[in-house]
Amino acid sequence: MTSTYCAVCSEPWSVYHIRHDAPPWVQRLFRLGAGCEACEGHAPEGLDEEETRLLAAEDRVLNVPFDDDVDPVGDLFDRERPAWERPEDRVEWSCDSCGIECRIDADLRPDDEYYRYLKRGPHCKYHGHLPELEPQEIGNAQFCSNCAPDCDLCGEPIDPSEVYFDEDDLYGRNPCHLDCYEAAREDAEDARREWRDEEYETEYDDYDQEDS
Ligand SMILES: [Zn+2]
Ligand SMILES: [Zn+2]
Ligand SMILES: [Zn+2]
Ligand SMILES: [Zn+2]
Repeated sequence: MTSTYCAVCSEPWSVYHIRHDAPPWVQRLFRLGAGCEACEGHAPEGLDEEETRLLAAEDRVLNVPFDDDVDPVGDLFDRERPAWERPEDRVEWSCDSCGIECRIDADLRPDDEYYRYLKRGPHCKYHGHLPELEPQEIGNAQFCSNCAPDCDLCGEPIDPSEVYFDEDDLYGRNPCHLDCYEAAREDAEDARREWRDEEYETEYDDYDQEDS
């Protein structure tokens, strides 16, 4: 297994680990010679800093552990060594109503199950269960699926200020648009009326037949 060396502490790392297991920020800072996960940028006492860096550069020329468009030596010598600092988790989207945030865990890679996670917002009230990781888009706004649930009747997300529950829906399990609810109730009434009329007609026909 090919190894590559930390430019700060000389610790050997497998090239595979750096390229495929380490989070992107670790890979980037390692490549720029800022340190590794073991030393976190602090050179051990008694180690000659320049010599360590030179050894790491030589090793990288030989092993070319990084992408072809990266200059292994220039990355180590031509720019200032950045601080070993974990970046903050990036916010991918946030709910315009409760402020819950979908964030990217900087320590994980995209194929990790927990790469994206939710952080409660300042106005989160009723998140007995967490909303979906995908936002609900309404016009230019983005909401979480708890604030803007899908309408039980038309399937489209409902604006948080317009979420409606039918009086019989005691546990609030079937949110809908008021318009959709009223349309559905009208349809149900029409159907009932039609059914009743048909029933009358049938009875009347039967009566007719018995009579003749
Ligand atoms: Zn190191
Ligand atoms: Zn929300
Ligand atoms: Zn919330
Ligand atoms: Zn609807």
